[in-house]
Amino acid sequence: MTVLIAGAGIAGLSLGLSLHQIGVPFRIYEAVREIKPLGVGINLQPHATRELIEMGLEDGLDKVGLRTEEVAYFSRQGKLIWSEPRGMDAGYHWPQFSIHRGGLQMLLLETLIERCGADVVKMGHAVTGWQETETGVLVSLEDRKTGTALGAEEGSLLIAADGINSVLRAGQYPDEGPAHWGGTMMWRGVTKGPRFLTGRSMAMAGVKRCKFVIYPIGDTEDGGSLLNWIADLTMPEDYDWRKQDWNRPGKLEDFLPAFEDWTFDWLDVPQIIRDAEAIYEFPMVDRNPLPQWSFGPLTLLGDAAHAMYPIGSNGASQGIIDARILAREIKAHGATQAALKSYEEARRETVNALVLRNRGDGPDKVLDIVEARAPDGFDDIETVMPLSERQELASGYKKIAGMDIAALNARGPLLEP
Ligand SMILES: Cc1cc2nc3c(=O)[nH]c(=O)nc-3n(C[C@H](O)[C@H](O)[C@H](O)COP(=O)(O)OP(=O)(O)OC[C@H]3O[C@@H](n4cnc5c(N)ncnc54)[C@H](O)[C@@H]3O)c2cc1C
Repeated sequence: MTVLIAGAGIAGLSLGLSLHQIGVPFRIYEAVREIKPLGVGINLQPHATRELIEMGLEDGLDKVGLRTEEVAYFSRQGKLIWSEPRGMDAGYHWPQFSIHRGGLQMLLLETLIERCGADVVKMGHAVTGWQETETGVLVSLEDRKTGTALGAEEGSLLIAADGINSVLRAGQYPDEGPAHWGGTMMWRGVTKGPRFLTGRSMAMAGVKRCKFVIYPIGDTEDGGSLLNWIADLTMPEDYDWRKQDWNRPGKLEDFLPAFEDWTFDWLDVPQIIRDAEAIYEFPMVDRNPLPQWSFGPLTLLGDAAHAMYPIGSNGASQGIIDARILAREIKAHGATQAALKSYEEARRETVNALVLRNRGDGPDKVLDIVEARAPDGFDDIETVMPLSERQELASGYKKIAGMDIAALNARGPLLEP
């Protein structure tokens, strides 16, 4: 019987493509009537791009994104703290991609429709609830725009890939309430600007309370880059963060002053901010780790299961890994509750640890350690934080995130083709 998936985001679409690969029937219900390429840039790590490549998407990824070659951390004075090669330059067998979130979502959607036909995705069908039946699950649907009930559909399993504000998660955890805000606001934009560093670098500068992250997601015709950037500021506790809308416009005066003197020899931060085509404001939110993801024929996937701070570039990557492992377990156990249990056993504790690690600032912690030891800057980083300590911090995070280079290269595919 058909596996029903709520949500055609990155996790839900990756699951659809994976189930198609193993010949399991599925249908995706998506709340919005039309998917538009919304959002700004995300980074996909090699453990996730490996999976996308094993779904046959390498050419598509190269069309939509750029291969990230380096990650570099700078102090708020613009001095280099740590840099490391990324993707294949670091020795992975698979690249890291800097990519527009909407571009990736459209690539997954178009590929899915090409392979399976348009009927596998039902747009304008929001899942509102479910009940267990003798043979699986009965899922109720609604047109969110009009509030019209769209009946109910039967399937073997229901997979909640309905994002950070998942109604299916809320159904299981009715007291949870809104997402958890840790005090940081993010202003995000895309600017046509110069190539900086390697031209394929991702850079982080500053400290947790005031940080600038930037990476190219495309090349421009004049030899420059389409630069995706995020400016983070810690705000007072009473700040009104709750309008958690990916398209809420941001105002320059709310954050530019904090970055006004960040003119470095490798990047002119205030200029990049001023030249943005559009700016969006978004709170940095996540959700508390859960003690249980699977409830009879229902399980949670992607952000619905483990929304995390966008630190260490792992949110979308982990959703893709979820999809592959769930498909692997469905292949092993059939579309049964046993498959959901095995998936949860393989994933929940690992990803929960990552959610908490990101609350502690993940690999970006290096910035605050250096700032605490050398608040007025430094001449020689080695005297502030020795190389071995910087290396240990970076590699410790990779292990938790499942992206240790040697381990990833050595293991077989998650889903045997
Ligand atoms: C519009 C948008 C823009 C984003 N922009 C960025 C960005 O710029 N940078 C970044 O790092 N991350 C962004 N994200 C988040 C990022 O895509 C996710 O963290 C990550 O990809 C996890 O994907 P997901 O599939 O679990 O969830 P999501 O990508 O959130 O997808 C969930 C999908 O489920 C649909 N849905 C919701 N409720 C229901 C329901 N009841 N029934 C059926 N469908 C439902 C939603 O419309 C959405 O398409 C964005 C998410 C969205 C939805």
